Amino acid sequence: MRAKPEADTRTLVQQKFERLGLRNPHDFVLHLPLRYEDETAIASIGTLRGGMSAQVEGEVIDSEVKSSPRRQLTATIRDESGELFLRWLTFYPSQQQQMKPGRRWRVRGEVRSGFNGLEIIHPKITAVHSPLPAALTPVYPTTDGLSQPSLRKAISLALGQVSLEDTLPASLVNKLGLLSFDTAIKTLHSPSPEMDAQALIEHTHPAWIRIKFDELLAQQLSLAAARDARRAKHSRALVMRDHPENLCQRLLRALPFKLTDSQNKVVAEISHDLAREFPMYRLLQGDVGSGKTIVAAMAALQAIEAGVQVAIMAPTEILAQQHFQKMQSWVEPLGIGICWLTGSITARARKIALEAIRNGQARLIIGTQALIQETVDFENLGLVIVDEQHRFGVGQRLSLSRKGEPDAQDWVPHQLTMSATPIPRTLAMTFYADLEVSTIEGLPPGRTPVLTKLVSSSRRGEIISHIAQSAVNGQQTYWVCPLVEESEALELQTAVDTHLALSEALSGLKIGLVHGRLTTSEKSAVMKDFREGLIQVLVATTVIEVGVDVPNASLMVIEHAERFGLAQLHQLRGRVGRGHASSVCVLMFQHPLSMIARERLRAMYETQDGFEIAQRDLDLRGPGELLGSRQSGVALLRFADLAHDSALVRAAREVAVDLRQHSPEIVERHLSRWMRGREDFLRS
Ligand code: ADP
Ligand code: MG
Repeated sequence: MRAKPEADTRTLVQQKFERLGLRNPHDFVLHLPLRYEDETAIASIGTLRGGMSAQVEGEVIDSEVKSSPRRQLTATIRDESGELFLRWLTFYPSQQQQMKPGRRWRVRGEVRSGFNGLEIIHPKITAVHSPLPAALTPVYPTTDGLSQPSLRKAISLALGQVSLEDTLPASLVNKLGLLSFDTAIKTLHSPSPEMDAQALIEHTHPAWIRIKFDELLAQQLSLAAARDARRAKHSRALVMRDHPENLCQRLLRALPFKLTDSQNKVVAEISHDLAREFPMYRLLQGDVGSGKTIVAAMAALQAIEAGVQVAIMAPTEILAQQHFQKMQSWVEPLGIGICWLTGSITARARKIALEAIRNGQARLIIGTQALIQETVDFENLGLVIVDEQHRFGVGQRLSLSRKGEPDAQDWVPHQLTMSATPIPRTLAMTFYADLEVSTIEGLPPGRTPVLTKLVSSSRRGEIISHIAQSAVNGQQTYWVCPLVEESEALELQTAVDTHLALSEALSGLKIGLVHGRLTTSEKSAVMKDFREGLIQVLVATTVIEVGVDVPNASLMVIEHAERFGLAQLHQLRGRVGRGHASSVCVLMFQHPLSMIARERLRAMYETQDGFEIAQRDLDLRGPGELLGSRQSGVALLRFADLAHDSALVRAAREVAVDLRQHSPEIVERHLSRWMRGREDFLRS
């Protein structure tokens, strides 16, 4: 618990600093510029392009207050090379005065190409005669109402108060070819004029390299510490009963297929972890369709046989229900109590489920986020399995694993997380330095690769006749409606319209519709009809994105594929190619394509390997988005960029191992500089 807020004793500015995480001088020292502005030169208006940040000088030739489409102040300035349009959406009367025609100003801001040609919105205005700075001007991350000058002042004050002594021994710093911490910090806060401006801006300057290295090292050290902390906790040792009639063996015998070597390998890894007295914290990754569910079932049975309850959490209701049905068919014949819990089951069903979970009749519990709500009370939760873990925030995962922790138990559940978004190696090394990773390589035998086609939306008619054809041959189709990022209502509307249009165009076929607004029972009725082949075409929003498994579906059409992310497209495509029929995925796109959209579609066309796709996604987007920015670990990295700094990650990892073995005092010094105020992380 935080102490009572002491709002009255802090000034307004202090409160704003705190919002940025700036509490003591050390924090200010590490508050490094987001970017730099080059104010050392005046550009000619004629050389400006959209997207540039620029500084020009010119004479106001015209200004007015417009009232439509909305009230705004506009002005045009001119130098000998051209004209630039300026705009203020909110303004004071004094600004209106400033912009009187005939006056000259220095103007700075981001140039964009607007309706009227090049313009700057809310430019910074200064007097034409003020001297130009000699060096780049740092621009710091800030918050509402906190100006750059006041940040700069506070930072330079802090630089005078804090020791910038190196946390690492000089020998190590030299060996790695790094700058000293002191030099690096001073360079970044106040670059001198002769410095390589480009390298500073692009974060390739040696000063940045040093800071990024330090940050990555701190991350490696703290993740390792977190792992140690976790190992210091107790879990029930869930030892596999060594007997041919144990639950796992009985399930294996009942399956219509044999596990692949790779599945057997990961089952063994998990089994080994479960048998230990400290919590397992393992990520199971495997491409879409690689068969992670059966691996989860094997882990669950080992745990259940050892006497504890197991919870499986899925990110969507459809998926939770599908898991429930599959698990039910696997474990009920073995006499194991299973129940499911989602946000939308009836109050009565919920009450029954809660009671069974509390008194222990339910051994395997499957659900959505509803599982982590306070009112769910387990008898003895020993293993938590989180499917499609990238869909959940860390907070959610943590609170589920803490379910087992309260007073009643002095041990914590083991944790298995599963993801079909394979983590490229660099990422795995940093973000998951604190957890074990098992990987299912390849897919089960008998799968035929999905043929991917890129088709312009103008050929929609052809695609529809193709669907009609394949329905005659008994094949089923998913039709995924365009993502409408800004409006769920609009997305829904599109799905409804598409359903109507396809029902008309394909009048002989049965067309289903599934979207996020349906109730659970409506959703499950549609999915059931689709699974049983009563529906030939399923129109869907992205609710079917993860995990859905209908082997007979062999055609996937994705409308406006250019709007989807790469990982999403890969997931969607993974819904087909699960049965024996050869499958096709049609990515319908609409011109014009942005550069990134083009690269994404190209990646989809060129490869089906989830790892390759994840790597390309990382290259295109950067890791923050890939993992969801609230993931643990990401918040720890402010400066390093995993897409480009993998060599530094490796170096930091090696140094971390060495320091932890030989120099605990250096570890402590380094962490106390970098992990200030982030101790909460260690508790995860
Ligand atoms: P994912 O890893 O995407 O969660 P699933 O667990 O849903 O994949 O498995 C995809 C399909 O492959 C399911 O129908 C499953 O029953 C099947 N499957 C899993 N393992 C094997 C195997 N060893 N041989 C054949 N089919 C398998
Ligand atoms: Mg799955």
